[in-house]
Amino acid sequence: MKKVTFITAFPEFLECFLAHSVIGRAVGSKTIEARVVNLRDFAVNRYGQVDDYAFGGGGMVLMAEPLAKALQSAGAEDATVIYPSPQGTVLSQELVESLAAREHLVLVCGHYEGVDERFVETFVDLEVSLGDFVLTGGELPAMVLVDAVARLVPGVVGKISAVEEDSFFRGMLDTPHFTRPSTWRGVPVPEVLLSGDSAAIEKWRKQQSVARTIARRPDLLASANIRPYLPKRPYLFLSGVTAALSGGLQLLERPARLYGFERILVVEPEEDRLHQLSARTGNAGEGEMTWVKFFKTAQQAFRWVSKKEKESPCAVGIEERKSGHSVHWLEAKRRILESGKPLIMGLAGDLPEAQVLVFPPRGGFEGEGELDPAVLLSICMDRFFGCR
Ligand code: SAM
Repeated sequence: MKKVTFITAFPEFLECFLAHSVIGRAVGSKTIEARVVNLRDFAVNRYGQVDDYAFGGGGMVLMAEPLAKALQSAGAEDATVIYPSPQGTVLSQELVESLAAREHLVLVCGHYEGVDERFVETFVDLEVSLGDFVLTGGELPAMVLVDAVARLVPGVVGKISAVEEDSFFRGMLDTPHFTRPSTWRGVPVPEVLLSGDSAAIEKWRKQQSVARTIARRPDLLASANIRPYLPKRPYLFLSGVTAALSGGLQLLERPARLYGFERILVVEPEEDRLHQLSARTGNAGEGEMTWVKFFKTAQQAFRWVSKKEKESPCAVGIEERKSGHSVHWLEAKRRILESGKPLIMGLAGDLPEAQVLVFPPRGGFEGEGELDPAVLLSICMDRFFGCR
């Protein structure tokens, strides 16, 4: 978002918002160009009338013509026109991110009973609600929306890392924050924050985010990328058969890298087949031999991970057919986060040691067990480690 225009019958509402603090600086430095169009400048008479009684009875409604003229004056041909309305799509971080990519946002602030529906049908691209409650006017929701979008515009918030650590950016809630004094009314801040040990602080903050999200908003886990909250990068586990099946290993290398896996572990007891597989991987490019690790037994692979991570891993098996012991992937996400252990993910059939078994994906049409293993694992990688 480079430019924002507010159309309002109450421009005074916007003055303070556009002049102070973070948004004030962004406007002052022209990082964001902001304009307020006074609807009364387009009134239907010299008394500044912009509203009239609702047909059929009821309160006042903002008239279509002053709104249309105000919009025309805003040079809004290529703009995204938003009407804050309790009947709109509920504002979310995802919507905020989409709107941040638009050049020019025009916010049409309703009042009284709202705005003439014919204006909405003709000019409005999107109705956005703050939630299931009714406010007196659209100025506050317009400011809320612009405030949230502006934070994502480069240069508005000093450190972009601060934005990325905020609630919802990666799908989880933020960690609690503390400032001086270190003890306030007898309550000290958590000791780790005073330790100066940045790795320990980082670890504590992630743990707090996880604990808060699970306790307060477990629903968020569905859309959260949990990878940044795991103590270590996950490992993808493939049996030799899965690795060889329709080029499974080659197909899985790219998603495993994309979703931030540490290594692919391939277990193949047969010496010949192991050589064939590793030769294929070796041809894939420099350094590939170390990115894919080969073992003769699953135990060896697990021991290798335990030694490397200095902790025994938690294995998550994706089922090809639902068994009586498996859990929904959202429940699996919660268990993985709670375990705090290095994660090994693979097909349940390949991972007899799996502590968590996950339902196979369901589409509602065909029966289960139809998916190729590489497709099945890619879908699950996205569910667990995809960014929303
Ligand atoms: N009669 C409308 C209805 O029930 O849908 C409510 C009108 S409200 C009193 C006046 C204006 O406030 C609306 O036109 C809209 O711009 C704004 N507004 C009220 N509640 C809102 C919400 N939850 N989200 C976004 N805008 C809201």
